[in-house]
Amino acid sequence: MTIACTDCGTLQDIPPLPWGAVAVCPTCDNRLERTNGRSINAALACASATFVLLFPANLAPLMVVSMLGMTRQSRLGSGVVTLWQHQWVLVAVLVAAFAVVLPFVRFGLLSLVLTLLQLGHRPRWLGGAFRWSLHLDQWAMPDVFLLGGAVGYSRIAAAMPVKIGWGGICLILAAFLCMLSRATLDKRAVWRTLSPESPAPPAAQAVIACRFCDLVCPAVAEGSPCPRCGLRLSARKPDAAVRTAALTVAGFALFIPANLYPMSVDRQLGVLVPHRIVDGIEELFQAHLWPLGVLIFCTSIAIPLLKLAGLSWFLMSVRHGTPGTQPRRLRRLVLKTRLCHLIDEIGRWSCVDIFTIAVFLPLMQFGGLVSANAANAAPAFLLVVVATMLASHAFDPRLMWDAAFAAHSRGVPPEP
Ligand SMILES: [Zn+2]
Ligand SMILES: [Zn+2]
Repeated sequence: MTIACTDCGTLQDIPPLPWGAVAVCPTCDNRLERTNGRSINAALACASATFVLLFPANLAPLMVVSMLGMTRQSRLGSGVVTLWQHQWVLVAVLVAAFAVVLPFVRFGLLSLVLTLLQLGHRPRWLGGAFRWSLHLDQWAMPDVFLLGGAVGYSRIAAAMPVKIGWGGICLILAAFLCMLSRATLDKRAVWRTLSPESPAPPAAQAVIACRFCDLVCPAVAEGSPCPRCGLRLSARKPDAAVRTAALTVAGFALFIPANLYPMSVDRQLGVLVPHRIVDGIEELFQAHLWPLGVLIFCTSIAIPLLKLAGLSWFLMSVRHGTPGTQPRRLRRLVLKTRLCHLIDEIGRWSCVDIFTIAVFLPLMQFGGLVSANAANAAPAFLLVVVATMLASHAFDPRLMWDAAFAAHSRGVPPEP
């Protein structure tokens, strides 16, 4: 079965793999297929259980706090409502999308696709639906919301009594199953069940590969929809370098106000206390919650900076090639390609701090006594996360390999 490696673009012939085997691209070391611990049935069970658990996780209270005889409950959507009422419309809309709406769409769609596959139904739209369920994987964030909720819980528990409700327990289970469904989903098996790959094309035939499902098609099909997943076929992601560059510049520009201005403002007995990202980290350290302080430092400062620096490095490689002698150049390309995957995977975890605020806000509304509100850095920070996630999705690592192959064929002298 012939596919094209999504990282370096070279054609690879993969025989049907036995249980527990791994197929690795010999050019770039990319893991092309892994059968160990993966099955369509397990992914279907996890995805449908997540979908069902999302209902109580959204409807029942996550946490209940009491202060001076008053109690406040927080549901998954309460933060969205409070943010909206406080006029933080952009933050409210994005939190609602990532934490409430997209998890339902992603797991509903994935459960539907896998159920139809197991029942032997193959309607024409099934490939497109599976592609969308994979697209939404990064944007549906019950697991990231759970981590944000855990940080919010620790911050509140340090100040007042707080109880976890049934919604909280269902969210913990849903987030765990969400991660399990990602780990067990054998994407290649699903694509093969939808439409098997053909054997290797003749060497003389020009081919093009779908950049989403890796199906190899004749080059003349460029511009038409992929027969398997419906994505428009193109040799490389369209305008990948320009889009990535524009989004990276936007990310850098927004990162400055996101760190200079406060993310939230507390009002305690009439006194306003602003909290920038660094203030929040410092408070967690002072409250002896240093693991959470390290976590917020990593997700809110280190990961966005790593993403922006990494994307800039990749763009430089596309423009100027990768220097070095051939084995060294290959090692650097493999490193950059792996870093590219890492950046794509970890980007969503930067939302932790925003979700902490979304959990924190509705619980901290005690009139004139204690209240909390989001502040100017919240939308800026959320836009940094969205811009860098879009940038890493828009980037095509094959461009770095193309630039290196082109430099090699031109005979660019190795660096001293
Ligand atoms: Zn490869
Ligand atoms: Zn495709």
